[in-house]
Amino acid sequence: MNQSKRIAIVAALEDEIAQILSNMTITESKLLAGRKFWLAVHHDREVVVVLSGIGKVAAAITTVCLIENFEVSQIVYTGVAGAVSEALNVGDIVVGTRFIQHDMDASPLFPRFVVPGYPTHYFEAEPQLAMNLKEASEKALMGLANVVRFDGLFKLRSAQVHSGTVLSGDQFISSSSVRDRLRREHPGALAVEMEGAAVAQVCKDYGTQFGMVRTVSDSAEEQAEKDFSLFLSSVASQYSALIIKEYLKLC
Ligand code: SAH
Repeated sequence: MNQSKRIAIVAALEDEIAQILSNMTITESKLLAGRKFWLAVHHDREVVVVLSGIGKVAAAITTVCLIENFEVSQIVYTGVAGAVSEALNVGDIVVGTRFIQHDMDASPLFPRFVVPGYPTHYFEAEPQLAMNLKEASEKALMGLANVVRFDGLFKLRSAQVHSGTVLSGDQFISSSSVRDRLRREHPGALAVEMEGAAVAQVCKDYGTQFGMVRTVSDSAEEQAEKDFSLFLSSVASQYSALIIKEYLKLC
């Protein structure tokens, strides 16, 4: 057994993590702040798996619980996200390197998107962790064709891995005009979701390593709700499980 501290695997929704859990040998579960934390062994690593719930505050509470109670050395967030960049398609994988709270606005007291008290408007992933997640995602994509057969609806066979900036806010983005505004305000941003930058902020304060990998479930426009629901119920769980399995082999 690898004796280093635990790796935390976190997602917002049950469908994003169901398969990961069923692949693991769960040794114990603990209830804290209304959340169930599953302690498990996976690929010879000690892990703790938890559902954070949706949104920045739920994600931040979960992150504090993990760090204060479970001796975690790193936190890996996984799940789905909406595409912001035109370069991304449903089924692509996004590894976050920078995280911005796109709904933070304390202007004119502070520049827009800067969380008061922090030097920049973004939080960063731990670089090695992000690199390992990228490598794991590339390996997972190779295995995915054998597991997920959904080409009729999503062109998963041509899926790609991207790494870069991810936007987080307490809004499900399902409007092309809002998505276009996000594109203008954050040139180069890849995807939008509702938790990552909050987890990144807590990890920065505690000095805990953080990384995030998400699959694109929708294009954050009018079709988003339909695409999101279908993707979530049909493929999200298998995607996350494959990526996390490859990741745990690497670290
Ligand atoms: N009714 C849904 C709500 C999910 S909210 C349910 O409970 O099943 C969407 C979740 O997926 C969030 O956790 C968010 O991080 C991510 N997400 C996927 N697509 C998104 C988008 N277009 N905008 C914002 N978040 C998105």
